[in-house]
Amino acid sequence: MKHLPKSTPTEILNDPYGFTYKEMSEVIGEDKARALYTELYKQPFHKKNLSISTKKVYKSSDTEKYVYELKDNRYIETVFIKRRDGGTVCVSTQVGCSVGCIFCESGRNGFVRNLTPSEIVQQVILIRQKVNRIVFMGMGEPLFNYDNLIAAIHILRDRNGLNFPTDGITVSTVGPVNQLKKLREEHLKIQLTISLHAATQAARNCIIPHMHMYAIEDVVKQALSYSQRHNRKVVFAYLLLPGINDRSSDIRQLAKWFKGKNVMINVLQYNPTSNSKIRAPQKQEMVAFKHQLEQTGLEVTMRVSHGREIKAACGQLANTYNKAKKQQK
Ligand code: SF4
Repeated sequence: MKHLPKSTPTEILNDPYGFTYKEMSEVIGEDKARALYTELYKQPFHKKNLSISTKKVYKSSDTEKYVYELKDNRYIETVFIKRRDGGTVCVSTQVGCSVGCIFCESGRNGFVRNLTPSEIVQQVILIRQKVNRIVFMGMGEPLFNYDNLIAAIHILRDRNGLNFPTDGITVSTVGPVNQLKKLREEHLKIQLTISLHAATQAARNCIIPHMHMYAIEDVVKQALSYSQRHNRKVVFAYLLLPGINDRSSDIRQLAKWFKGKNVMINVLQYNPTSNSKIRAPQKQEMVAFKHQLEQTGLEVTMRVSHGREIKAACGQLANTYNKAKKQQK
């Protein structure tokens, strides 16, 4: 684990969710750290320890979207998807995003700032329900906030606190190659999802414009290397865009890369955003594409979107409040 410069007791007491038990103990002593950690992770929690607050909650039958206000009056969104035995939290890692995927609302106004480890951890703490999966799939590209993401994962896994199992943590990324290499070397064994969305460089450049500096082959190679080293099935997310990434040659290329590998392709449906130029595929087009991939011998799934009606589905998390603030200026 990376060693950060030692914090002061005041910094720890002002924002305690940003530290592991060990980091805390080294600065304020074991007894105080134990007492504080117990206070932080028992329910109900003390508001005085929080640096983010709930601004608004939207609810549908199985999904809740939380709008959180940060100390600097910025806003982020976090989604909770209910399951029979608990639920999944979709956590944000940045305010805004620099990647600019054409199907996503989060990056429409560009990147604002990285979230701190504490702001990342508190998104989970503030969901007062049983959480058994954490997915870093909310606003922002998690690997562009690498150090804070890894620090937050260590805090979430800390056995003195939430003691969250590594198996239940997924990082979803567009796959910046250098950061993927670093992640491969971490002793974390978290689940990895790569937002691939294309089988050619040209199509990927069109769908994820600000990732053009990374060769698609290198992204695939690094992800497969992660899968091998950690013995993990890597999921490749593929948002189907008719006329852009659904040709027979795309299917052949995906089969060439992934046949016989520990990989699953997740075919995704476009959830409506403000980009009116995108045509969402019909259900039959999705099913046909999935079927053709399966015929090549690949493992394929088609994810059902949750929370569309409250704009909480993939690609729909927006800086609505940040935008409103900007317009007021
Ligand atoms: S999908 Fe992820 S990486 Fe792409 S713009 Fe949205 S938040 Fe950023």
